[in-house]
Parts: sequence; structure tokens; C-alpha cells
Amino acid sequence: MKVLVTGGAGFIGSAVIRHILSHTDDSVVNVDKLTYAGNLESLAAVSGSERYRFEQVDICDQAALERVFAAHRPGAVMHLAAESHVDRSIEGPAAFVQTNIVGTYILLEVCRQYWQGLTGAARDAFRFHHVSTDEVFGDLDGPEGLFTESTPYAPSSPYSASKASSDHLVRAWYRTYGLPVLLTNCSNNYGPYHFPEKLIPLMILNALEGKPLPVYGRGDQVRDWLYVEDHARALCQVMARGRLGETYNIGGHNEKSNLQVVESLCDLLQELAPVAQRRYRDLITFVQDRPGHDHRYAIDAGKIERELGWAPRETFESGLRKTVQWYLDNQTWCARVQDGSYQRERLGLGKEKVL
Ligand code: NAD
Repeated sequence: MKVLVTGGAGFIGSAVIRHILSHTDDSVVNVDKLTYAGNLESLAAVSGSERYRFEQVDICDQAALERVFAAHRPGAVMHLAAESHVDRSIEGPAAFVQTNIVGTYILLEVCRQYWQGLTGAARDAFRFHHVSTDEVFGDLDGPEGLFTESTPYAPSSPYSASKASSDHLVRAWYRTYGLPVLLTNCSNNYGPYHFPEKLIPLMILNALEGKPLPVYGRGDQVRDWLYVEDHARALCQVMARGRLGETYNIGGHNEKSNLQVVESLCDLLQELAPVAQRRYRDLITFVQDRPGHDHRYAIDAGKIERELGWAPRETFESGLRKTVQWYLDNQTWCARVQDGSYQRERLGLGKEKVL
């Protein structure tokens, strides 16, 4: 099968593509606009494969998408392209509305036309898999309770509101037009190739440079953490065997406060990258909380476990250790993201900052 992956140069999309090319015989067409978050260097291990193609396309560009569908004739679409950083959505929500809502709408329409033109087995087998977040559910008040697939939507940030909108569009295209869709809502991911604006890589890289580790508020916001390769495997299982029109929650059973996460990172760095006179925990500093910050997210992943037999393979401890070791072993990837060269070279720019 040929899978068209949108957002394949991003953190999770690149993990999905590495997973498909390493663990299946399927081919991949990676459709990515290459925003600041897209980094083709995250695909260096697989991009030489005969089964891999890249198309630099904005999902808001209908004509370009139609050309890509006509040229590659995919058997399935995994839709991950999005603006994904909550802080950026607070600073500038327009890009989130454009890509996450309008872009998803355009992609759905191009898929619908393409799928309606298919016949027989190709039409029956076609899937549109929409990858979403647990942030659409808003937050949980106390330490009890879990998000299930039937929890009402109550998004808090421009990011989560735009993702919630896109989920509604995907469900509507299933109910109204019969487009064969699948949806997944996943908790916070972490792991290799994570852009260093997000909590875990930001803390690792700041700590290695001896810079402060900024923690919002008192650091008591609770998130469920899932190792990105466990997510990639879950997505492939849902694509292959999920029931049409259904939503599957995906989570890691790893509820941790932000402060616990940062302290665990400090302890791992103390062990794996000790520096004379440095106690990594001393770098933790508390900064003003983000507006509208959700308090607690927690996922009930029972449905995907029962129906598809998926379960995470990494515990938080094993996944975090792998992640810290990966950042220690891949300083070149990190340095090229931090100094902007991963982007500057492809844009043909000089030393100017491009993020
Ligand atoms: P990311 O920001 O790392 O990557 C997004 C990718 O989409 C980038 O490669 C970017 O270039 C591309 N992109 C952005 N706008 C585009 C456009 N208009 N057209 C084409 N490509 C475009 O994001 P991520 O963390 O890998 O998340 C991927 C998906 O998973 C998102 O839909 C996100 O909402 C969802 N998700 C993320 C998490 C998480 O913890 N990171 C958790 C649950 C769900």
C-alpha cells in the first residue's frame, strides 16, 4: 500500500514514516509544507528508500494537493500536518485556524473527490486517518477521572480549539459523505527528534547549556506522556484494523506533573552527563503561568487496547532514559535546529534568523 502522510517532516509524522518504512513493505508519500517545525533531517535514516517520496506542499493549496493525489494514487492518508505549539497559538492564532481547520477542510475535500473516483477494492480499502490530541477535551479538575472517547469537547487554547474543529469536520465528512475515516486522540508525546520548543527537549538542551529550566506556575499541571514510537505503532494499528468512523484514545498510563518531568530529566542528566559543580535541579526556575493553562489531562486508552491489542511498550522511565540518551548522542541534529541551519540551507539564506 502507498500511504500519504501529511506533516511527515514533523516530530510524530517523521516517527510514523520511519516506522512504516522500517517495519512494513508499504510506501510513503510525505506531504509537508516545511514550516519551522518541519525538518527533513529527521528522516535522514529512511529518505534514501525507494519506497519514500517527498512533496513540499501546503495542505491549504487545493490545486497542489490534487496534483499530488493524481500523481501518487495513495491507498490511505494519515493526516498529521498541523500547527502544534500551544504558546505559539496564543501569540498568533491565525496560522492555527488556517492550517488546522481550513487545511483539514481542503484535504478532506480533495480526499473525497479522489475516493469517489476510486472503484472496487481500492475504494473499499481507502482510509483517511485524522491524528488529533487529548487537548480537545479541555482539562480535568481533580486527580480523578479520565478522558474517554465520549468525553464532551471543551478546548481551552486556540490550538486545541482548532484541533477540535478539525475533528468535527472529519466526523461530518464520514456522516455526510461516507468518507471512510478513523480518528485518534493522543496524549503528550516525547522522544527523539522533538523540536526544542516543547517541554522535554527544551529542558534537556537548556540544562546541558547550564541555562535556567523555566517551569510554568508551580509546575503542578499533570499530563499523560507517551513515547513517540509507541504512538507511531498505535497509529499504524488503527489504520490497518480500526473500525470505520470510530475514534480511539491513545495514552501511556504515565501521569506526571510538569515539575516531576523536569526533576526526572535533571536526575537522568546528573547520571548520564554529570558536569563538575553543577546540580541540574538547581537550574529549575518558576515562571508566570500560561493563560488558560489546563490543569490535568488523563487518557483512558482501554478501547484501543481491547479492540486492537495495542499497549505502550515503554514505561515513562525507560522512554525518558532513551530520550535523554538520544539528545546526548545527537547533538548535531540539535545544534542545527537551534542555530537555524536546518532551515536556512534549504531556504538558501545566510546567517539571518529564520524561526
Ligand atoms: P510538529 O509541529 O512537530 O509537526 C507538524 C508538521 O506539519 C511539520 O512538519 C510542519 O512543517 C507540517 N505543517 C504545518 N503546517 C502545514 C501545512 N499547512 N501544510 C503541510 N504541512 C504543514 O507536530 P507533531 O508534534 O508532530 O504533531 C503531529 C500531529 O499530532 C498534529 O496534528 C498534532 O495536533 C497531533 N498531536 C501531537 C501531540 C504531541 O504531543 N506532539 C499529541 C497528540 C496529537
